[in-house]
Amino acid sequence: MEFDLIDAIRARVNIARGDVALGIGDDAALLDVPASRQLVACTDTLVAGVHFPSGTAPEDIGWKSLAVNLSDLAAMGAEPAWALLALTLPDADAQFVERFANGFATLADKHAVALIGGDTTQGPLSITVTTLGFIPVGAVLARDGARAGDSVFVTGTLGDAAGALEWLLDGRCAPAALLARLHRPEPRIAAGLALRGLANACIDVSDGLLADLGHVCAASGVGVELDAGALPLSSALVANFDAGACRQFALAGGDDYELCFTVPPACEARTVEALAAGGCGATRIGRIVAGSDVRVLDANANEIEITHVGWEHFSR
Ligand code: ADP
Ligand code: MG
Repeated sequence: MEFDLIDAIRARVNIARGDVALGIGDDAALLDVPASRQLVACTDTLVAGVHFPSGTAPEDIGWKSLAVNLSDLAAMGAEPAWALLALTLPDADAQFVERFANGFATLADKHAVALIGGDTTQGPLSITVTTLGFIPVGAVLARDGARAGDSVFVTGTLGDAAGALEWLLDGRCAPAALLARLHRPEPRIAAGLALRGLANACIDVSDGLLADLGHVCAASGVGVELDAGALPLSSALVANFDAGACRQFALAGGDDYELCFTVPPACEARTVEALAAGGCGATRIGRIVAGSDVRVLDANANEIEITHVGWEHFSR
């Protein structure tokens, strides 16, 4: 059974790349790393009931398990190349695996990511994906490069996935535009590539803007002031929630998978231009300041008190 499942995955996720000397089928994959490139690696686990509501379509789980990983590569400025898939399944459900693999393959195709191996085991539903990509030596977008005076930007819109989740937790069917953001996040690969040489620091927003921006500030030894009124909100979010809820979702809701980055003033115009060309656009939401505080300001520059900054495992 295990090998039938592996064959089914392999048949559906079969992006060919010339740099895969040996893919699925041996004890390990053999890969050609281009000279003058650094290898970028990351991994993320999705656990049923924690990272997606039970009842999520298998295609969406397949897409999202790869998307959250590609989002991490995007935040480093990397070009994705390869993925490994460790799948733990309650039973040998061929239909689930086929549908899962179809969702995974749809996104893998878009970014020419080859599935080069993995593991298949029995247990409570859990998916671990590892992705690998390349970056020219010295071009990485790290978290520790933010400097006082930088502008803070975010791609796309914030809070949509958190809005969708709110509807689902209420037992209601969420608006399609919000649901798509929850189940099919688009990793901002093109934006990450465009930010090479422009951004001082970058992170992907997965646990909530304030929590993730807090990591950038801590790593860089700086503080940040955000303008609440500048947070980019989708029309679908604004149509379905009041202003306070929208702000809370945008500041602390999880699962955005947008890039948050800082750029020195001299690079601002070029950055906005580059990301407009990249499709998702970017919005200036604040500035990096001296100190270590993460503060959110209203239209009169008064601080807004924040009680919840984002999602953290083991916090309950
Ligand atoms: P081993 O016992 O040597 O670890 P496995 O029997 O687990 O090998 O896997 C056989 C081959 O299938 C390996 O190349 C492995 O990388 C690949 N593989 C196993 N599970 C998956 C999966 N879920 N997705 C992709 N490749 C897989
Ligand atoms: Mg194995």
